Amino acid sequence: MSQVRVRFAPSPTGFFHIGSARTALFNWLYARHTGGTFVLRIEDTDKERNREEFLNLIYDSLTWLGLNWDEGPQVGGAYGPYRQSERADIYREYLARLTAAGRTYEKDGAVWFKLLGERYEVFDDHRKKTVTKVRTPPSVIDDRIRGRVERVEDEDFVIFRSDGNPVFHFVNVVDDIAMRITHVIRGEDHLSNTSKHVELFKAFGAPVPQFAHIPLILKQDGPGKMSKRDKGALVEEYQRRGYLPEALVNFLCLLGWNPGDDREKLPIADVVRLFDLPGVNQSNARFDERKLAHMNMVYLLEQPADQFVALARRYFEAQHPAAPALRADAAYFRAVMLLCQPKIKGLEELPAYTAYLFTEDYPVDPKVKDKVLAKGDPRARLRELSDALAGIDFASDTAIEEGIKALATSRGLGFGDYQAVARLAVSGTNVGPSITGMFRVLGRDRVRQRLDRFLAA
Ligand code: GLU
Repeated sequence: MSQVRVRFAPSPTGFFHIGSARTALFNWLYARHTGGTFVLRIEDTDKERNREEFLNLIYDSLTWLGLNWDEGPQVGGAYGPYRQSERADIYREYLARLTAAGRTYEKDGAVWFKLLGERYEVFDDHRKKTVTKVRTPPSVIDDRIRGRVERVEDEDFVIFRSDGNPVFHFVNVVDDIAMRITHVIRGEDHLSNTSKHVELFKAFGAPVPQFAHIPLILKQDGPGKMSKRDKGALVEEYQRRGYLPEALVNFLCLLGWNPGDDREKLPIADVVRLFDLPGVNQSNARFDERKLAHMNMVYLLEQPADQFVALARRYFEAQHPAAPALRADAAYFRAVMLLCQPKIKGLEELPAYTAYLFTEDYPVDPKVKDKVLAKGDPRARLRELSDALAGIDFASDTAIEEGIKALATSRGLGFGDYQAVARLAVSGTNVGPSITGMFRVLGRDRVRQRLDRFLAA
């Protein structure tokens, strides 16, 4: 095992979004690539905003995505506890160290971190008051993604609030020290905090970890950063819609990283082998929901039959528990789902796409009906087809196709003369899986009933 130790440090203050998932994924990938350790740390010091349901959502989402953590809540580890709300003693102890080193003072009930350097006063136009500045050399951050970044930290800052609670910068750095974190891989929105963090690492006499700030995710349309409120931003939404986690992970890998060629579908093992820092793009990545939907379709198409049927059943059970599909015979359910697998873009299409295959009470689209019945003599074709059904071999799609073709040839017509009206009669619409596949799955008797019922209506 290598010395690399990375962490994902979410705060349970909201839904789990695409940006968090990507940060978790890049940490996980780096840990797996280097044979290091992936730590999950829960930054839950903000008692007002933390919620237990959001915490569970973090665990569930990471688990669903397959991003297993080596240390953290639920699994333990040598540097726990892994929830900041349980680490108050550790923070007191670290505070005592800083105080002993002369690097803290109290003001207005809060504890401040004292920068080293010459102090001077200036009037701050923005804040409209005189502030004390400190002459400090700039912190140089050799960011593994951004390159060299220089920032000046020239004002003391609060590390414990007057209510006795430690602030984010303090606990974040203390835990990175205490948990022996070697690489801090996080969103670019934290780049502006890094100089504070570097000053704290140095004050503790601790080695400064390597930083890697991942570029922002831009929203699908228009300028600006994707936020939790944007459409398609939440991981649980994809979970609910029956997306495959492998597809979402593959999509997230490409949000700011690429394998160096133009491959898009990549087994995770390949990504683990190829992923590295640097290697993550410096430019912002744009979220594209259509691309994600396409990726999901590609993965769905490749599912082995048993797997696809199981996924379909789980989707119906979770999202449409009252659907007639769930009361159908298992072999029939399977046949329907496999017939539709090559036709759908996502599992969420299945209920509507397959509805008429699970009930005799299906609607007939009036527009489609008008169109189909307008040309030739479709009712005569249906009558002929119904009469010919007894002689058609229903063993396979090709046998059914040959049977219909033979009927057509005997009348001097083509397969097409029967297809649209037969589809209308058995499904009520003009879209769906192949007509021969539908015939096979429905079986001779049900097809005949449907044709005859349509003719009678
Ligand atoms: N709790 C911080 C966040 O959710 C973590 C920042 C970090 O990774 O250092 O943004």
